[in-house]
Amino acid sequence: MSEKEGDAAARLGPETRLPGLRQPALDRATTWPYSAGELGAFAYQRYDHPVAAEAERVLGELEGGRALLFSCGMAAIAGVVLAFCKSGDAVAVPLGAYVSTSHLIADELTRFGLRLVEFDQTGPPPGDVALVWLEPCSNPMLSFPDLDASIARAHEQGARVAVDATMLTPVLLRPLEHAADVSVHSATKLIGGHHDLVLGVATCAGEEDAERLFQVRRLFGLIGSPDPAWLLMRSLKTLPLRVERSSATALELARRLREHPAVESVNYPGLGDEVAARYLRAFGPLLSFVVRGGAESAQKLECSCELIENATSFGGARSTIESRSRWEGERVPPGLIRLSAGLEDATDVWRDLERALDSL
Ligand code: PLP
Repeated sequence: MSEKEGDAAARLGPETRLPGLRQPALDRATTWPYSAGELGAFAYQRYDHPVAAEAERVLGELEGGRALLFSCGMAAIAGVVLAFCKSGDAVAVPLGAYVSTSHLIADELTRFGLRLVEFDQTGPPPGDVALVWLEPCSNPMLSFPDLDASIARAHEQGARVAVDATMLTPVLLRPLEHAADVSVHSATKLIGGHHDLVLGVATCAGEEDAERLFQVRRLFGLIGSPDPAWLLMRSLKTLPLRVERSSATALELARRLREHPAVESVNYPGLGDEVAARYLRAFGPLLSFVVRGGAESAQKLECSCELIENATSFGGARSTIESRSRWEGERVPPGLIRLSAGLEDATDVWRDLERALDSL
């Protein structure tokens, strides 16, 4: 491990203070009575409900803004685009970022007059767009933007900035502290952390933006339900510990993978990405790598793992591995493997992976 990587791992600690966490009652009501004919705190579940409100309080405090819970990460992304863009606008989305973000705009929202502009997020964002989307670290290529510079440039050019920080959670990165307008997460991943809930969250820096997004959520019916929101509250209690453990394991795996002869290249910002190191003290659970022998080797590798589950998604307690070309086709190298470090013993995970790599 280089000194820089070691420093980053050592600096990782539970610095993120969790705002007072009490497990809320699981209130599944869809309607609440008026009080003497007047609206109370809650009226109708599609607008808002007590479990979501409690999760939003905690997430909002962590992020430093007003958080809104959505039914999944894609609902949060769609909500943000619908709230802040209109017909004729362009949205700039990073190349090599989560594939469905680009597809949402290119395959669906172009019908409503939006335009997708893809760009390399390690450089400055393009001008003449209404919304700049950033994704540190990107899924699955793990690129990292110079957040402060990119956000400042986008604002100078009159664009709003949304940052999808799913990979890092507010434990490692709080985009609003870097002047982003909106921070977005698929809480299905690391925030939920157990592969048992689907939710999204978007947190706005400005109250007007939050009201606008709230209106879109309400009218499109995008709010997350009480049951997953209750599970999310359970998950938040262990979030800093899980982030710490899975990030340390991912760094260890990335370092070892780099030395393995069956591996052509490894993508992980913890391996010397100097821009990422300026913003992060640890680099999250996700890494990707290219195996020699292309798609055939990638498929053999994913099928040979035993402890690491051959499944999609990431950020869970159990490590997961998959060949990405099945989802992304020519967008990614044919031998690209995406690996999410879980909470197992790092040595056990490496043994499983090494045995599978040795069999190629
Ligand atoms: N953002 C990122 C970076 C993702 O990786 C994903 C899903 O993989 C999403 C958003 C969408 O999240 P969900 O599956 O909860 O809709």
